[in-house]
Amino acid sequence: MHGYFDHNATTPMDEAARAVWNETEARHWHNPSGLYREAGEARRVLEDEREALADLFDLDDPERLVFTSGATEANQAVIRHFAGTIEGKIALSAVEHPSVAAAVDANFPGDRIMRLPVDPATGAVPLESISAALATGEVGALSLMAANNETGAIQPWHEAADLCREVGVAFHCDAAQWFGKMPAGSLDGIGFVTGCGHKFGGGKGSGFLVRPEAGADHFHIAVGGAQENGRRAGTENLSGIAAMGQALRGREEKMSCQGGPRDAFEDRVVAEVGVRVLAKAGPRLWNTSMLVLPFGKNLKWLTRLSQRGFAVSTGSACSAGKGNPSAVMAAMGLDHEAMGRVLRISSGPETTEAEWEGLAAALAEIAAELGRELA
Ligand code: PLP
Repeated sequence: MHGYFDHNATTPMDEAARAVWNETEARHWHNPSGLYREAGEARRVLEDEREALADLFDLDDPERLVFTSGATEANQAVIRHFAGTIEGKIALSAVEHPSVAAAVDANFPGDRIMRLPVDPATGAVPLESISAALATGEVGALSLMAANNETGAIQPWHEAADLCREVGVAFHCDAAQWFGKMPAGSLDGIGFVTGCGHKFGGGKGSGFLVRPEAGADHFHIAVGGAQENGRRAGTENLSGIAAMGQALRGREEKMSCQGGPRDAFEDRVVAEVGVRVLAKAGPRLWNTSMLVLPFGKNLKWLTRLSQRGFAVSTGSACSAGKGNPSAVMAAMGLDHEAMGRVLRISSGPETTEAEWEGLAAALAEIAAELGRELA
């Protein structure tokens, strides 16, 4: 492998997190619900982790943090909760992850769903559209992601949460692509916020959800057991939770958010390959580049990159390889033909400049190769 550029799909496990995972699995494999000493120690690890993360997120009460198996489970629980508690419509951006968008379709009738378009230049929902939607008085809840998994476009989630709070509308933010790439910051007063460990080196099958400080008394994910203060029944993934916490704290400590190598890469492939970069006019995650290739099918480019040792994606892992048109690309104004020419490049903190340069050179080589073949 000469370069792994699919970090928005998943990340390798962080070394320190792996050590914590191994240690927890070796020493604290007991069920935290047990009544013997070792179970109590496992429960202590769990509650220490809850407290440490609540501290990082500036939450007054650690019980507002519910551990889950990932962002999909957490998102779907929030949307189901909205369906059972709000009046009126649910508003959501046109670029939400399928774990949100499909849950909305499954839980709300079409006439109670309001989709908010994005500006194709920035990939973000303009704040004015959110204000206008709330001003109709028809919206009972808004779901707006923090950063888009395909384009990296950063959404105005803090501002949207403020607007919702002012008018008493429930708010949910799917922040799966935010944590570990951007500073978590205070999540107090935001509403529901969800995330998952495997996007920042914490391992698969780990995630979390922040509950609002008030108004979600009956919120639960799974019933039947008293785990997670009765909000999610089921034996806890303690090693995964401990590894996730370690990985997130590690990322927060070393956070740089510098898009320099990505920007230099983009400048080079725009000039040498003739790609177009999506959502370039607005703020984006520092690690993500959604490219529209000048010609040929994206799978051809992807295969040739893979043969040269570079892993990239044609879009989100959920639709990649399945031939489903991406709702995000449609919202960005791409027609069916152009959707077949997109490549998503997403780096991690360990990606080197040499890897970025290698990827740019490989794309230029493939462009020349395919250009000759298609001539
Ligand atoms: N939300 C976003 C924005 C994502 O990118 C992903 C993963 O691709 C998810 C949710 C789903 O996360 P998980 O794999 O933890 O269920």
